[in-house]
Amino acid sequence: MSDYYSLLGVSKGASSQEIKKAYRKLAVKYHPDKNPDDKLAEDKFKEISQAYEVLSDSKKKSQYDQFGHDAYTQKGGMGGGGGHDPFDIFSQVFGGARGGGGGGSFFDELFGGGGRSRSRSSAQDGSDLRYDLEISFENTVYGADKEIKIPKLETCESCNGSGATPGTSKGTCGKCRGTGQVTLAQGFFHVQQTCPSCNGAGQVIKSPCSKCHGEGRVRREKKIKIHIPPGANTGTRLRVANEGEGGLRGGRNGDLYVIIHVRPHEIFQRDGSDLLCEIPIDFPTATLGGVIEVPTVSGKTKMKIPEGTQNGTIMRLRGKGMPSLRGGTRGDQHIKILVEVPKRLNKKQKELLNEFSKAMPSGQNHPLQESFFKKAKSFFSSS
Ligand SMILES: [Zn+2]
Ligand SMILES: [Zn+2]
Repeated sequence: MSDYYSLLGVSKGASSQEIKKAYRKLAVKYHPDKNPDDKLAEDKFKEISQAYEVLSDSKKKSQYDQFGHDAYTQKGGMGGGGGHDPFDIFSQVFGGARGGGGGGSFFDELFGGGGRSRSRSSAQDGSDLRYDLEISFENTVYGADKEIKIPKLETCESCNGSGATPGTSKGTCGKCRGTGQVTLAQGFFHVQQTCPSCNGAGQVIKSPCSKCHGEGRVRREKKIKIHIPPGANTGTRLRVANEGEGGLRGGRNGDLYVIIHVRPHEIFQRDGSDLLCEIPIDFPTATLGGVIEVPTVSGKTKMKIPEGTQNGTIMRLRGKGMPSLRGGTRGDQHIKILVEVPKRLNKKQKELLNEFSKAMPSGQNHPLQESFFKKAKSFFSSS
């Protein structure tokens, strides 16, 4: 066991105020009520109580300073099972400062944090809700306003979530006598638990609200307007504050999270803020070049196809992609060219193509073919 000063985290020259302050902080942190079933915290709580008992008593402190930790604890000054009950020490320090409030209330103030009052401590916040919304590709391009209907538990308007008939008073809980806590003795320790009868409220409803049957909430289908911003994508999460489940006894409402799912589009594929669109062109246009019409999310546009464009070529239209959710620059649209071979030629067309074929011997002006046959040839000659 380390020495009492380092246990409390104070220096040897610390004033009694500093020692007390350090003990208070640690005692709250390691109190068994706050650390149920935690043996380490329990031991720590005992140790800091011992340390405080010695260092807060000027006579014991000077002995301790004089003999040192090991000698002092061996002498039985505080070691072993001697000394006071750590809970007595705790009550002395905290009880004194809080005007002797011995019941559950000062525990609540200590452990509830932020000085919540008794009635607040039974407040229960509503849970968050999730709603999956399927929208069209167009909705994500231009944005959209949707109305959704969700079934949820809403705070009862009649009783404001208290569960009691308006105007009636609540009765003090008989089990905990209004403290909201029950104390169980477990050997050396007293374990405080939230009263199971009133759930810590300290009060019980005598006359349940007729609208919610004392539940404090009613199930209802609510219509909620959702704005979908341009640029939303599958997985985009929209938060609608306060539209989750209603709170109880003054608790806050939860939030509603709408998760976006975008239906696939027939011609546009999305990749982040870019769009991909495959456009088939005919063989003469690919060979001779030309101008084609291209659909974009901001309308039709014309695009030049250079002479000798190959199948699979990807071209880019800058700034014709998706709008950005955060209002930045738009993405690009990529166009993948698919050169389509004509089907079912008539006699005249076939004749012309045969003419063409004669005019251009196989392999000529076809770099891919040329290089492939060259490789194939060397493959057969080397084997
Ligand atoms: Zn009600
Ligand atoms: Zn109770």
